[in-house]
Parts: sequence; C-alpha cells; structure tokens
Amino acid sequence: MKTVGLIGGMSWESTIPYYQIINDYVKDTLGGLHSARIILYSVEFDEIEKCQSSGDWDRGAEILGDVARKLEGAGADFILICTNTMHKVAPQIRRMVSVPVVHIADATADELEKTGVKNVALLGTKYTMTEDFYKSRLIDRGFNVIIPDGEDIDVVNTIIFDELCVGVIKDESRKRYSGIIGKLKDKGAEAVILGCTEIGLLIKQEDSVLPIYDTTEIHALRAAEMLLED
Ligand code: GLU
Repeated sequence: MKTVGLIGGMSWESTIPYYQIINDYVKDTLGGLHSARIILYSVEFDEIEKCQSSGDWDRGAEILGDVARKLEGAGADFILICTNTMHKVAPQIRRMVSVPVVHIADATADELEKTGVKNVALLGTKYTMTEDFYKSRLIDRGFNVIIPDGEDIDVVNTIIFDELCVGVIKDESRKRYSGIIGKLKDKGAEAVILGCTEIGLLIKQEDSVLPIYDTTEIHALRAAEMLLED
C-alpha cells in the first residue's frame, strides 16, 4: 500500500470525511484489520482564510507548499489538498514537490465524463464559482459550467464560511441551497458539483433535484484507489 499525504484543516470539519472515506474504502476492499496509510497535516484555517480574503494567495501558496514538502519528506507518495478553493494555488504547490498532487477538479471531471453530462452547475466559495482557476479545468474538458446569480453566490459563500466551516448545519440553509440548485436546473444544469468540501455535510442527494457530485467523496475515493494501485 502507498501512503497518502493530506493537507487538511480547510476547514477541519471537511477533513473528517476524507479520513473516513479513505479508510472505509481500504477496509471494504482488503477486509480484516486493513486500514489506510495516511499522513495528515491539518493547517490553521484562520491563517489560510486571511490569505484568501486579503488576496495574498502567494502567502497561501507558501504555507501550503511548505506543508506539502513536509508530507513528502515524511513519506507521502502523493498529496491531496483537501479544499477546492486552495486549488487556486495548486500549480505553485505542484512545483514545490516531486510527488503527484491529485487535483480535485480533475478527479471530478473524470467522474462526470463517465456520465455523458455536459451542462454542470458549480457550487462553492465565491472564489471557486466566480474565478477561472477551477472552472477553466472543467471547461477545458468540454463541460459547460453554470453558476448561481449574484445574490445566490453570496448566500452560498456566506453559508460556507459562517456555518459549515464552523460546524453549524441548519435546515434553513439546506432549504436555501436546495432552492438554488432548483434554479440552476432551470438554467439548464443536468448535474451539480458540490465544489466545496463542506457542502456534502449539508446537502445529500435527497436534498437536490439534480444528481450531486460531491468533490470530497470523489477526491477521497480517488486517493483510496491510488493507495491500492501497483
Ligand atoms: N473547503 C472549502 C472548499 O472546498 C472552503 C474553505 C476554503 O476556503 O478553503 O473550497
């Protein structure tokens, strides 16, 4: 078995499912007492969020790149950045290590490609929904990416940072997300990417009129499969 290095803590609420999903896959595949070789470095999220909101992405890249190096030094065969948003600096992080960094948007595109879906809605932080670093990877793969309208972008983003990242799960917010997904369907979306690693804590398939693609689950399962590859 290989060893995966997780850059977690962004937020730590969403790192818990990574640990669970990867271990469950290894247990289900190998049985018995088997469990996953995982090295987790959980960062101080307040520091990372300040880099985002102040626009100091270079500092964010430096912090996460340093963590990636530590994970490589500790024996990680490949690395996951356990957040969609900080993939904005994935190219810089990739340059700082020699092991692969598994891109969350690429893993998601791989899953979507299996379905024949072309028009896909994207929910995530305002950075992920409105900037190019994430959407362009999907567009390059032939997908048409649909995001919410202005006011709904704020709703989705605020719920992520003010509630989900601090472990607050509200029915009212679930309803608002469900409503926004309904509007995205009306705009032509055939599926919705939960493009923020906390959204799966709030929205399950039964809350969505569109098939959901949960990036946390997809990313973690990709890692689990890679752990057991030759
Ligand atoms: N975990 C979230 C994501 O997947 C948001 C937290 C962050 O800004 O890194 O984008």
